Amino acid sequence: MKSLKYLLSIFGLLILTACMGPDRSSRLVVVDAGHGGHDCGAQCEGKQEKDLVLQLVHKLRNEFRSEGYQVYMTRGSDRFLTLGQRTQIADKKDADVFISIHANAIADKSRFEIVEGIETYFLQKTRDEKSQRIAARENAAVLQGADELSRSVIIDAVLNGPKIVESNKLAIDVQKNIMARVKSRYSDVKNGGVRPAPFYVLVGASRPSILVEVGYITNSKERERLFTSDYQERIAEGIVKGVNRYLDNREKELGI
Ligand SMILES: [Zn+2]
Repeated sequence: MKSLKYLLSIFGLLILTACMGPDRSSRLVVVDAGHGGHDCGAQCEGKQEKDLVLQLVHKLRNEFRSEGYQVYMTRGSDRFLTLGQRTQIADKKDADVFISIHANAIADKSRFEIVEGIETYFLQKTRDEKSQRIAARENAAVLQGADELSRSVIIDAVLNGPKIVESNKLAIDVQKNIMARVKSRYSDVKNGGVRPAPFYVLVGASRPSILVEVGYITNSKERERLFTSDYQERIAEGIVKGVNRYLDNREKELGI
């Protein structure tokens, strides 16, 4: 009888643990809204990238919190931060992952309604022209003041580090889960895939780090969706699911 009681109590405990879900309270994520303040980022039809990404990081913060994570935003209001300030926050907090949120744009007006989709980037040198072009646009604001030599020294140091493989894995999990979440309602969203690119905001981050381009604000259909709460919610849920997946796998690999 005693052993039956013991078995029942163990069983109850197992059910309780399963209901509560995994304990993620030791996981810390830093989410970075690109641009801010005088740097508006991409702009189209009166809509600005800096505003969109700020709305998105607030949703992301709530979503990560509801999953039990500790989460920190590099900016929670409309203010400008330098490149160094963004990644230093992730290092100071000793974050597990660093996620920078941006929106895309193209210059060629005749292609506004053709170019669309969601892309996730990780830091790596590339010869791909499209990745280089997008990186150049995103890098423009953070390059002020830094000379060419110091830029290349920093980048080489980071590119030779071991975080590229981990950042690539994180990017794959996040991109996959964002697409699944948005496509369950918006089946025509284009999957721009995972791409390597030399984004300066990812340089200096000594942890798995990615940059998500959530869509093109130069495309009217995508711009409209991006500024709705439902679409933003789906992107945030997809990112959190992707991070869950990546960190669960990493813990399994490390045997934690
Ligand atoms: Zn941007």
